Amino acid sequence: MKLLRFGVPGKEKPGFVDRDGNWRETSAFGEDYNEQFFQTEGLQRLEHWIESHSEDCRLIAQNSRLGPPIARPSKLICIGLNYAGHAIESGIEIPREPVVFFKATSAICGPNDDLIIPRGSQKTDWEVELAVVIGRKANYIGKVEAMDYVAGYMVHNDYSEREYQLERGGQWVKGKSADTFAPLGPYMVTKDEIPDVSDLDLWLKVNDVTVQQGSTSDLIFDIPTLVSYLSNYMSLLPGDIISTGTPQGVGLGMNPPVFLKPGDTVELGIKGLGSSKQEVKKYI
Ligand code: ZN
Repeated sequence: MKLLRFGVPGKEKPGFVDRDGNWRETSAFGEDYNEQFFQTEGLQRLEHWIESHSEDCRLIAQNSRLGPPIARPSKLICIGLNYAGHAIESGIEIPREPVVFFKATSAICGPNDDLIIPRGSQKTDWEVELAVVIGRKANYIGKVEAMDYVAGYMVHNDYSEREYQLERGGQWVKGKSADTFAPLGPYMVTKDEIPDVSDLDLWLKVNDVTVQQGSTSDLIFDIPTLVSYLSNYMSLLPGDIISTGTPQGVGLGMNPPVFLKPGDTVELGIKGLGSSKQEVKKYI
């Protein structure tokens, strides 16, 4: 199943993509795609409900604004330097344990919303990433069972302000958390639709030029490892997001470095998960 949310920011309604590729509303199901939904077997319940309520699933115009495919989660956890090529281009040693940081959940926005360059920013950069959505509460779980805790996947652009991230001391969170720095979607694709998540192509273009091209087969720490690892340090709650890191080709790694400016267009996608596109605007 492919879940989506649509409508005005902050008031999105839930929907899904039907077998013919149409977008359909599921407001009559009465639940948003949030922690409670995932915690109470919402995916299975929704699938059943759709079978017997197709007449209640109103068509959504495909020029509607898409929101993030799931409601704001308790955590947006990111993994840094999880592709060797990106660690090398960043001039940082390939990590021996997962590098973990947080991104403010208020950075989350729709897949095709404008990217707003933060006030004073000179070094706003892109990062295509596979984001994993947790389906069940996870504590101290092993790698073997880890995939049982995964609900699905989304495309994520982990926008980053490199000066705030790397030159201002303290944690990376400062360079990762501006509004619009986490476009998610277009869809959350459920786990069953992706036969091999360890072999998905990822790509990102800036102004129609391909700058990132990679495969999840190159992840240093794979998804079961990450879910298991993180569950040793915190409860992973249903709906939480783990963004798994970016392949090489970010602006910081170019010689000389290239950063985004108003008027640029960023487009990105992952095989089987769809694509998204952001226009770059300045903060007003
Ligand atoms: Zn990242």
